[in-house]
Amino acid sequence: MNNKIETSVIGSYPVQIDRLSLMNSYFNQSISSWNEYIYQAVNDMISAGITIISDGQTRDPFVNIFIRKLRGCRIRYRAEVIDKIEYDGPIIIDDQKYVRTLIPNTKKIVGPITGPYTLMRSCSDLFYNDEKQLAFDLANALNKEMINLQKHVDLISIDEPFFSVNIPDYGKDLMSVLLKDVKCSTRLHVCGDVSEIIPNILDMPVDILSHEFKALPKLIDKFKDYYISKKICLGCVRSDKDSIETVEEITSHIKKGLNIFNDKIVQISPDCGQRMLPQKIAFQKLRNLSLAGEKLNG
Ligand SMILES: [Zn+2]
Repeated sequence: MNNKIETSVIGSYPVQIDRLSLMNSYFNQSISSWNEYIYQAVNDMISAGITIISDGQTRDPFVNIFIRKLRGCRIRYRAEVIDKIEYDGPIIIDDQKYVRTLIPNTKKIVGPITGPYTLMRSCSDLFYNDEKQLAFDLANALNKEMINLQKHVDLISIDEPFFSVNIPDYGKDLMSVLLKDVKCSTRLHVCGDVSEIIPNILDMPVDILSHEFKALPKLIDKFKDYYISKKICLGCVRSDKDSIETVEEITSHIKKGLNIFNDKIVQISPDCGQRMLPQKIAFQKLRNLSLAGEKLNG
């Protein structure tokens, strides 16, 4: 193998959050710092040996992080769109800057962006009554965050799970608006069964594709029928199951992937964000993933 395979995460990571201390600082009106939770996530990823690290998306579920800070949205009992969507300043930038202070310069950062289509599908629209216009306004606003974000990260990962449910005919145009003038490396993560939309996915204007290849190993065979024009981030440990994959199991999964994708595989990662797993299990999965990566890289 010519190039070394890097180990990455998709985004979220479970941490122990002290709700009482957060509540006290809220009532005392002191500014509560979220940094200790980002620190926990980053520290686990570094200890596990991961090479491309995220902030762990510990603040909020992946939709709310963005909805909370975009103009035109609000969170009541649910995420709602109540006015024209506009960018209202940095959303995840400060967290990435903090991550940079925690990691050695041999490590890289992946900045996770929740995609406009998934945000649109996750909100109750009380303003637009036009899902396409709403999706494009979200893409425009998120593009401003990405232009800013690329100065602080090595890779931007766009999370669009809803593409596996239904990919709209404007999907590629939407990604083009989102990625306008973005120069840094980009990855599109679509979890779920993408076997019927592989040609659409391969046509997206991103550098790397990331899918749930461990939970859905049939995807490896499905990709065999196409010319692989993108680099691949191979999902190698499940995010929906507590059982810990052994290093041997992960290694043989990667070899199966290499048979089809060859040197297109540039990253290995969990299948999806690890937020729903117990922290100890999430850590051990990352540890075994990175041991398998080291073994393959020799
Ligand atoms: Zn996912």
